[in-house]
Amino acid sequence: MQRYGIVTPEQIDLEALAWLLNARVRYRPLDGCEAQIMGIRDRAIITIDDRGGAERARFSLGHEIGHWQCHKNQNLHCSKEVIGSTRDAGSAKEWQADTYSAGLLMPRYMFEPRAKSYDRPSFRSISELASEFRISRTATALRFVGTDPVYSILICYGPNGRNWFRKSRNWPSTLIPAREVGANSDVLGLLFERCTEARDARREPASTYFNGNDLQDEEVFAHAVRTGASDDPVGRSVMVLVVPVRSRLIELAERRSAW
Ligand SMILES: [Zn+2]
Repeated sequence: MQRYGIVTPEQIDLEALAWLLNARVRYRPLDGCEAQIMGIRDRAIITIDDRGGAERARFSLGHEIGHWQCHKNQNLHCSKEVIGSTRDAGSAKEWQADTYSAGLLMPRYMFEPRAKSYDRPSFRSISELASEFRISRTATALRFVGTDPVYSILICYGPNGRNWFRKSRNWPSTLIPAREVGANSDVLGLLFERCTEARDARREPASTYFNGNDLQDEEVFAHAVRTGASDDPVGRSVMVLVVPVRSRLIELAERRSAW
């Protein structure tokens, strides 16, 4: 994209890209899936159900272009559950298409300098990036953690505890979030509608999110937000972006691996 002089997020035009790749795009309601691709030799027809909103439709289009580039000559029907999935046990093909979409919509050469310009990451900065790139907060947060050269972790909780987490590459594998979040976290407040989203990250004890006596004096910056609207309390989930206050948290966790 850089070669074509595309330098700002608003210049990213996935429909034009699809056209260049011999894929026609149409928008219409679909039954049982959110997007589909029919590929025949060097041509394809991509159909997107855009009833989930413009941000979602863009991500789905990027996902189908990903299939077209990585899985040629196939007819694929992609459901709402597989596009932008955060499940740990998803199919490799769908994961590849999602990664492709995130790369198209938030190219590293545009995304990383913007992400780095914030002193301390939180959902305040994630939300600004999301609106600039016209993509959901969740997709932006996943991209942020996926490209972060230092230390951040995104954790999602539902009423029954931790659902999933994604860590930055260098985050120690010995520092994995606890299944249950600490009682004072905004996560519980948001899940059970006792509070509204804070404007920025808060300083909290590391023990709110991680087990271990060795971390008792450590703190993190954490910012919790809802993942989407759900009227059903059981389906509700909240994600929290956590970064260390001091590098000592990471050093202590790395020491664990030497045990
Ligand atoms: Zn797919």
